[in-house]
Amino acid sequence: MSAYPKSPVMGQMMQKPMLISSLIEHADRYFGQSEIVSRRVEGDIHRYNYTECHRRSKKLANALSNFGVNIGDRIATLAWNGYRHLEAYYAVSGSGAVLHTINPRLHPEQITYIVNHAEDQYLMFDITFLPIVKAIAPHCPTVKGFIMMCGREHMPEDSGVPNLLCYEELIDANTDDFVWPLFDENSASSLCYTSGTTGHPKGALYSHRSTILHSYASAMPDGLNVSARDSIVPVVPMFHVNAWGLPYSAPLTGAKLVFPGPHLDGKSLYELFEQEKVTFSAGVPTVWLGLLNYVEQNKLTFSTFRRTVIGGSACPPAMMHTFRHTYHVEVVHAWGMTEMSPLGTACSLLTKHMALSEPEKEAVLTKQGHVLYGVDMKIVGDDGKELPWDGKTYGNLLVKGPWIINSYFKNEGGEALEDGWFPTGDVATIDADGFMQITDRSKDVIKSGGEWIGTIDLENVAVSHPAVMQAACIGIFHPKWDERPLLLVVKKAGAEVTKEELLQFFEGKVAKWWLPDDVAFIDALPLGATGKILKNKLREQFKEHKLPTA
Ligand code: ADP
Repeated sequence: MSAYPKSPVMGQMMQKPMLISSLIEHADRYFGQSEIVSRRVEGDIHRYNYTECHRRSKKLANALSNFGVNIGDRIATLAWNGYRHLEAYYAVSGSGAVLHTINPRLHPEQITYIVNHAEDQYLMFDITFLPIVKAIAPHCPTVKGFIMMCGREHMPEDSGVPNLLCYEELIDANTDDFVWPLFDENSASSLCYTSGTTGHPKGALYSHRSTILHSYASAMPDGLNVSARDSIVPVVPMFHVNAWGLPYSAPLTGAKLVFPGPHLDGKSLYELFEQEKVTFSAGVPTVWLGLLNYVEQNKLTFSTFRRTVIGGSACPPAMMHTFRHTYHVEVVHAWGMTEMSPLGTACSLLTKHMALSEPEKEAVLTKQGHVLYGVDMKIVGDDGKELPWDGKTYGNLLVKGPWIINSYFKNEGGEALEDGWFPTGDVATIDADGFMQITDRSKDVIKSGGEWIGTIDLENVAVSHPAVMQAACIGIFHPKWDERPLLLVVKKAGAEVTKEELLQFFEGKVAKWWLPDDVAFIDALPLGATGKILKNKLREQFKEHKLPTA
């Protein structure tokens, strides 16, 4: 694989391939009693530990091997965060096959497309997703069997799904006498398709090596800071970019894992956090909105929850402030994408920031932060020339590193790289200390009179208003300026605010020419398969909207 010249004097250390199976072997041997707790789709709480998880992963690996699954074959999952999904992570990748995690929130037609594109051989799924499996099964000729992740008692009488198998029966029928095979660490380990808001989804194919390196880097103190003393709830789904790598970094460090299953509402999460003494979690801002609302409405506090990673879309400063000051929960703002395994940056303070006031510290912490070692980044203008790191100049953000995509699966979906760098499609600034801040997605940025208006800043101001629950800003056609900002707002239950009051609230907080030209109040914002606001839907919905200034 290496295209680089060899030294006449090569190092004399062992050549042990970095394989995903080594993570669960390590956790079994050194943290065997560390718990894995799951709220199951069946409704109850399931509890076991890394040793038991390893044992069952080997049984599943034997089952797959008996089916004739070979190294490189793709095996799909349609599942929530839970212990059986974790077993699939290790059984599939550990035996050299490729774990293809499917986002169940995608449209069934898109799911069919990616199952066929990946040529999945088997598909494992949670009970919840039986209707999806029923709908897609007749259109997925490569799938030889559908494995329902439950015990015999939950299997349907007459499902209509061809070759429907029972997960627990496979576990019971196989022994744990299995030796994880050794193979090249650059072999594919897992596959995740981008959400594909435009065109077909594209496959990001991770390797064992990229996954292990990402796990090391993400666990570091200024990354996600994962340790054996943590009890972690990955709220981010295992069906999308491997739950930000937590199913790997937790066994690597010996942390306790707590899986929330399908219930991600504020009440369910809060109860689980308290019951399992959760110290650390990770999720997108919309999930935290639900949790914070629940905790606030019921006047609760957290007993053990101390740190959370927020990413996937920008964490509003108001949310960070509430977590930090009202609930004493540290927020690590992180940024990444499917093509980056996903972590690229995380934000934590430098020594020189420690003497700053709280508001000054928060101003730093709301940035998306520093790269993790391994990732390199730069911002460039439309002419491709690198732009200065002054915290003000914004440009297209490019990255490279050993866990960043080189090309899409089957080389379909266009060129991934520009001159050896991956163009993220994000627009950002980088300051003199190397802290990156996303101003927008390049396709969401508002182009007004030849200048750019970043929508994230405007949304952050809007959600810091006490009556605003969620906000999204989009560009609307303007005869003079090309585009001007329209602010869409979801009010908090029972709260009132007028358009004029809201616009007044912006004054002094953003440049005058950034002020939204209009505000529209709506009941809910459309969310995509990964919990992000679908701005293309909003643009479609409001394309006839007439701005008062037009
Ligand atoms: P994921 O949702 O897992 O992060 P996706 O590939 O679906 O991965 O989306 C990646 C995009 O999400 C990024 O290119 C960026 O636009 C946006 N994003 C992710 N994290 C942040 C963040 N902290 N702030 C702003 N935007 C973010």
